Amino acid sequence: MSINSKQSIKCPECSHLNEVTVWSSITSDDSVDLKKDLLSGKINIFKCENCSHTALLPNPLLYHDSSKKLMLSFTPCNDEATKAQLFKNIRETSKNSEDLKNLVDYNLRFVTNYDTMLEKILIFDNDLHDKVIEVLKVLILTQEPEKANDRIAVFGKYEDDYIEFLIRDKKENQFYTSRIPFESYNTIKTQLAQSGVKYKSFDWEIIDIDYGASLLRGVNNIL
Ligand SMILES: [Zn+2]
Repeated sequence: MSINSKQSIKCPECSHLNEVTVWSSITSDDSVDLKKDLLSGKINIFKCENCSHTALLPNPLLYHDSSKKLMLSFTPCNDEATKAQLFKNIRETSKNSEDLKNLVDYNLRFVTNYDTMLEKILIFDNDLHDKVIEVLKVLILTQEPEKANDRIAVFGKYEDDYIEFLIRDKKENQFYTSRIPFESYNTIKTQLAQSGVKYKSFDWEIIDIDYGASLLRGVNNIL
């Protein structure tokens, strides 16, 4: 069920008082428009009606897509220690409430970055799996190992049997694209499964590029 509340928020720039709709839960089956707003970055983003100042609201958001069996728990956070604590909290809360028993075969993701939340939705909307996508990102970035630390790869699109990634080089301030054949995606997906990777969650998971790198270290013969 999609849930919102109205809040009065004072603009930190001009002190104008704005009436804002804050979403705490979005179920994609409820409303196509709401999901569209989320994907275009309009949900829980404050925009002052007086001075146009924009900022991400600190409120957590739960995203649920029953057809893709995807649940995302998003809490904005930039600090690694707080992120670890929040992740520990959500795992403990779920364990105690036994909520997970109703979410068999789901993928449960804990995310702290708004763009990552949107990226996950797109990956699953394309019937791809983020565990494979994160491994592909590592493979792409390590093609130029000396530049890997300056680069970020994100899922772009899936079309014509190719998966396209957007690469941002923070040092060069450049964007690149990199395309991987869907066949390679499938090969890696199968190899990961053979090495024990599960394409469903038994608990909340953080699936990021560090996760992809740790999978690759564990599956030495994948290359
Ligand atoms: Zn303002």
